[in-house]
Amino acid sequence: MKLDVNVLRYLSKDDFRVLTAVEMGMRNHEIVPSELVDRIAGLKHGGTYKVLKNLLKYKLLHHDRSKYDGFRLTYLGYDFLAIKTLVNRGVFTGVGRQIGVGKESDIFEVAQEDGTILAMKLHRLGRTSFRAVKSKRDYLRHRSSFSWLYLSRLAALKEFAFMKALEEHDFPVPKAIDCNRHCVIMSLVQGYPMVQVKQLQNPETIFEKIIGIVVRLAEHGLIHCDFNEFNIMIDDEEKITMIDFPQMVSVSHQNAQMYFDRDIECIFKFFRKRFNMSFQEDRDDETEVEVDENSRPSFFDITKDANALDRELEASGFTKKEQNDLDKFIEGGMEKNKDSDEDEESDDEEETVESNEEGNLNEMRSLQLQEEEQNSSNGVEAEVELDDNKK
Ligand code: ADP
Ligand code: MG
Repeated sequence: MKLDVNVLRYLSKDDFRVLTAVEMGMRNHEIVPSELVDRIAGLKHGGTYKVLKNLLKYKLLHHDRSKYDGFRLTYLGYDFLAIKTLVNRGVFTGVGRQIGVGKESDIFEVAQEDGTILAMKLHRLGRTSFRAVKSKRDYLRHRSSFSWLYLSRLAALKEFAFMKALEEHDFPVPKAIDCNRHCVIMSLVQGYPMVQVKQLQNPETIFEKIIGIVVRLAEHGLIHCDFNEFNIMIDDEEKITMIDFPQMVSVSHQNAQMYFDRDIECIFKFFRKRFNMSFQEDRDDETEVEVDENSRPSFFDITKDANALDRELEASGFTKKEQNDLDKFIEGGMEKNKDSDEDEESDDEEETVESNEEGNLNEMRSLQLQEEEQNSSNGVEAEVELDDNKK
């Protein structure tokens, strides 16, 4: 997706005010009635309607007239809210080139004032499996109207919390810098995903290191669940960094052993194919093997601290409820959305209109004020710089 941050320069305070109003309305509405946007934004003299037009022009909003006149945020609109907030916080000053496209994320370089380059991951849950989001409607019923916003935000929050916790336990992960909405800012990893590596000086050592990480994670109560050559980065000095944590689970998860074995199997498979490594289990019985080299670690033999995860998450402010919501969705995906056909056309999208709108309006107004205060707390409006290298 194209992320043209130039647009940020042309957006005024009122533009952001209205954009934020739509975001708030989306807590209760899939499509936020124009009139409600106007009431939340509270601009004088019908100013909201002019601003809405402008936001539509830049594709930050989607206009929907199918059931009533209303708006919802686009991913781009949500991106801009997060970017604006982080820029105003002084986390970075400019957005650069895109460096990765994940299944459900976009990764960009961002630059700090002193020229340091960081990585920005924008989560896009539901991009490839919106049907899966729909199939989780039952579970997320009262918040279905903003499921992709909500889930993407949770994914970012979880990733950020885990990255921090893992770093504190000396795991090789990017440094977690900040997080807002569906956006995580982390240090830029030098090197490339293992999948791009054709040869290694010493595959055995790297293999052992990687398996060691999976085992140590389990000792700390965690399973990565997507531990493969796409999510392991390696640099020219053959230093390893693991990335991509939204799907991690606790060793106390009911399918923990299966996920653990699957992570291990991915590594075995990759090293066997790519680096022609052979393992004890590949040799036939006749071969005498003295040492128990390269045999698979057994999930049951690992001494696991299953509570470590909960403690870390509690400390990060990522609640059990949020954890459950996200896990329900991600596990649906991990099981290949096998139930996603069930409610194919259940079109209950606009059923979530809140009854107590006035009550919410006050809450939304105060949130809007908080947001504005936060955005202007460092005095001057931060400018987003252009990417000079953009072609
Ligand atoms: P997804 O969850 O969508 O798979 P990832 O976190 O795995 O997203 O990131 C996708 C790609 O972006 C990675 O394979 C990697 O090439 C790149 N990438 C992600 N994070 C970083 C980082 N901190 N530094 C450098 N490149 C990164
Ligand atoms: Mg990945």
